[in-house]
Amino acid sequence: MAMNRIQFQPGLSMPEFLKLFATEALCSQALEQARWPDGFRCPDCAGAAHCVLRTGTHKVFQCNACRHQTSLTAGTVFQSTKLPLTTWFLAIYLISQAKTGLSALSLKRHLGVSYPTAWLVHHKLMQAMTEREARYTLSGKVQVDDAYLGGERSGGKVGRGSENKVAFVAAVSLTDEGHPLRVKLSPVAGFKLKAIADWASKSLAPGSTVYSDGLACFSAVTQAGCTHECTVVAGRKPKEVPELQWINTVLGNLKTSLSGSYHSFGFRKYAEQYLGAFAYRFNRRFDLKTLTKRLLVAAAQCAPHSQRSIRMVAEHCC
Ligand SMILES: [Zn+2]
Repeated sequence: MAMNRIQFQPGLSMPEFLKLFATEALCSQALEQARWPDGFRCPDCAGAAHCVLRTGTHKVFQCNACRHQTSLTAGTVFQSTKLPLTTWFLAIYLISQAKTGLSALSLKRHLGVSYPTAWLVHHKLMQAMTEREARYTLSGKVQVDDAYLGGERSGGKVGRGSENKVAFVAAVSLTDEGHPLRVKLSPVAGFKLKAIADWASKSLAPGSTVYSDGLACFSAVTQAGCTHECTVVAGRKPKEVPELQWINTVLGNLKTSLSGSYHSFGFRKYAEQYLGAFAYRFNRRFDLKTLTKRLLVAAAQCAPHSQRSIRMVAEHCC
């Protein structure tokens, strides 16, 4: 029987996870390594020389040059957390190993915390994934399509809930052999030339070849130095159009992932994070074994949310 290379790859087993991250001390050590892989760097002056002060169980790092003091979690998504690191690490493990993502409700049950706390942990980790994804652009052959969250796809129903719909560009780059490589899912103001030109300049490397259906706005990718190949789909189902086959598969996977894992959420407010988390997972689908550590690095190197956005999240939860 043929085995699916993605589905049958070894992940990080629960016993392995527990061995690596069973205690606060082990988690603290792993976080320090993830945050400063080349050793401590002062967040203020980038100096390396430092001393470690201890207040209770917490380490405080003091820069020898400028005397700036920082904790291990300050300046990361873990900043000001009241949760033990072991709880955060369990969340990172569960989120990274779940094939189609995990809802805040499942996370609440697994972590044994309140729903608002689970929601906040989930949101912060999705933010870390989204910021990591924002660093990459697509190149080479790229299939694109227009899509919506919170409603049927283009041309679909309008009505109940439609005010919550969010338009986004779905794009997938291909290998030379025509296999899917990376995806990028980006909320846009609408499918107008200007919005697509802006999206292309941020998301595509110049010289890419973009394949789309007949929607006029996608011709704007040429403004970002890309070539545009338009396929008229008329009368054919998306899966019958080879030029758009993979982007339709990706959108199908996204739909399954969102309907299976997440209850209704504020699409307008949080679309970017949900799409970013899906793309993060898809783009690392061959690396399940190392994903827990990689998500830890993303979280350790992601700046904390502003007070304002944390308040907004807290209001959402109550
Ligand atoms: Zn310093």
